Amino acid sequence: RQPIIAIDGPAGAGKSTVARQVATELGLIYLDTGAMYRAVTWLALQQGIAIDDECAIAELVNQCKIELTPSQDLQSPVRVWINDTDVTQAIRTKEVTSQVSAIAAQSAVRQALVKQQQIWGKRGGLVAEGRDIGSHVFPDAEIKIFLTASVSERAHRRQQDFQKLGQPQVSLEELERDIAERDRKDSTRKVSPLQKAADAIEIQSDGLSASEVAMQIIDYYQQ
Ligand code: C5P
Repeated sequence: RQPIIAIDGPAGAGKSTVARQVATELGLIYLDTGAMYRAVTWLALQQGIAIDDECAIAELVNQCKIELTPSQDLQSPVRVWINDTDVTQAIRTKEVTSQVSAIAAQSAVRQALVKQQQIWGKRGGLVAEGRDIGSHVFPDAEIKIFLTASVSERAHRRQQDFQKLGQPQVSLEELERDIAERDRKDSTRKVSPLQKAADAIEIQSDGLSASEVAMQIIDYYQQ
């Protein structure tokens, strides 16, 4: 079967850029699992459902249809749809970003989305990126990477992403606070907290470009 490459790590460590490059180089499909948690969060907010109403959110997640379509090139984003609405940009707002950890901590949400991810992985041929891919979603992945970077480096990269997307500027201090807070929530939650799988290779990416990290991962894969 085609390989599964799992890339996990905290917010803003550069997982998306790196995962897309690796997928493109190796001709595999790129799966952005964070986009799925974001899409559910967007839908809950849009329908006015309280983020802590676990019953209503469980119903929502079990009835919604999420589609991810690969982008044509490395520059354009992977398109994300929920119930036939294109939410590619809407899921990247500050509001969604600040609420997504609370949605992702709910076991009904994780069960539904992990099941979907595992169906996509049945045939292999994926570079899947998230928080629990190597530890939980695909424990048999051929390659597991745990990608980290310092909080200040990650804040810096997020600021550049906002610039590229033409979104309003946010100060580095505020970004650092938000990133540290999301790290805390993602690593202290009860279900599938962010953690390095025992057999994952850790890459600390401060000072490395996305291409350099992608090359390292491809080297591990080809060894
Ligand atoms: O990777 P991204 O920042 O888009 O992920 C958004 C949020 O989704 C994370 O902060 C985390 O709470 C959640 N998530 C998760 N498990 C994954 C991917 C993302 O809990 N596999």
